[in-house]
Amino acid sequence: MQNAGIDALGLDWRYLACEVAPVDLAAAIAGAKAMHFIGLNLTVPHKLLAVDLVDELDSSATTWGAVNTIVFEARDPDGEWRPLGQLPDASGPVRSKGYNTDADAIVRSLAEDLAIEPRGARVLLLGAGGAARAAALRLADEGVSELWLVNRTESKAAELATEISERFPAVHAQAGYPESSVEILLNATSAGLKPGDPLPLDVSRFPLRGCDVVYDMIYRPHQTPLLTAAQAAGCRTANGLGMLLHQGASALELWSGWIAPRDLMRAALEREIYG
Ligand code: NDP
Repeated sequence: MQNAGIDALGLDWRYLACEVAPVDLAAAIAGAKAMHFIGLNLTVPHKLLAVDLVDELDSSATTWGAVNTIVFEARDPDGEWRPLGQLPDASGPVRSKGYNTDADAIVRSLAEDLAIEPRGARVLLLGAGGAARAAALRLADEGVSELWLVNRTESKAAELATEISERFPAVHAQAGYPESSVEILLNATSAGLKPGDPLPLDVSRFPLRGCDVVYDMIYRPHQTPLLTAAQAAGCRTANGLGMLLHQGASALELWSGWIAPRDLMRAALEREIYG
C-alpha cells in the first residue's frame, strides 16, 4: 500500500517493515532519526510506549493517547520545523514528532464503507485495548449518544467507560450490553484473527439482529465469524481494511505533504492481502 502510494507520487522512497522488540523501541526510533528516515509507522505493541519516546507530540497523539505515526523533522531556512520528507537538503538537528492517524481512519471508514455518521448513534464497542480506546474516544468526540463497552476483562471496559464519561459528559458511556438495539456494533478485539476464535460477544445477551451495521476492525481474514453471523442476522457489514487504508494514507500525507492516492493504495492493499 505505502510503496504503491510512494511510487505514484514519484518519490524516491521505500517503505520497509522491521520487527522491533518493545525493549529496543527507543533505540530503533533514535537510529531511524540518526539515519534521517522520513518517518515510521508503529503497530502492536508499540503505540502506547512511543508516546513517551518521541521528542514532540501532535495534538492527535495527545488527544487519542497513542502514536502510530512518527514524522522526522528538521528546521527549514526560516527556522521552522518541517518534515524531512519535504526538505530534501535538510541539515542540522532532527526531531521526532508523534501523530495518531488511527482514530480518524475509523470514522472515515465507517462513512465510506457503511455510509454511517456516528453523531447521535447508539454504539456497542467490543474490546478495551489500544484500538478500542482510540475508537471509543474518537466516537465520543464525534457525538455518539450512547457508548456501551464490552470486554473479556470487564474491569478494563469499566475503566474506559469512566474515562469517556469524564472527558465527554454528554455521552452516555457504560460497561455492559445494551438492553435494546444499537445502530453500530464495532469489534475492536483480536477475537476472529485466528481460525477457531470465539465470537467477540455473547449473542445470548445481545442478539446481532439488534444492530444496523457491524464493523470488524480485523481485515485478515477478510470474513470473520462475527461478520458471517452479522450478515446472517441481516446487518450491513464491513471489515477493517478501510481503517488500515486511511491510517496509512494519512501517514503518507504527513510525511510527503502531498494528497495520498487512496484508490490506488486501496487496490494495492487488496491485492497484497487478499490476492
Ligand atoms: P490489544 O492487544 O491492545 O487489545 C486486544 C483486545 O482484544 C482486548 O480488549 C482483549 O481483551 C481482546 N481479546 C483478545 N482475545 C480475545 C478473545 N479470545 N475473546 C474476546 N476478546 C479478546 O490490541 P489492539 O487494540 O491494538 O487491536 C485489537 C484488534 O483491532 C486487533 O484484531 C487488530 O488487528 C485490530 N486493529 C485493526 C486496525 C486496522 O487498521 N484495521 C488498527 C488497529 C487494530 P482483554 O482486555 O480481556 O485481554
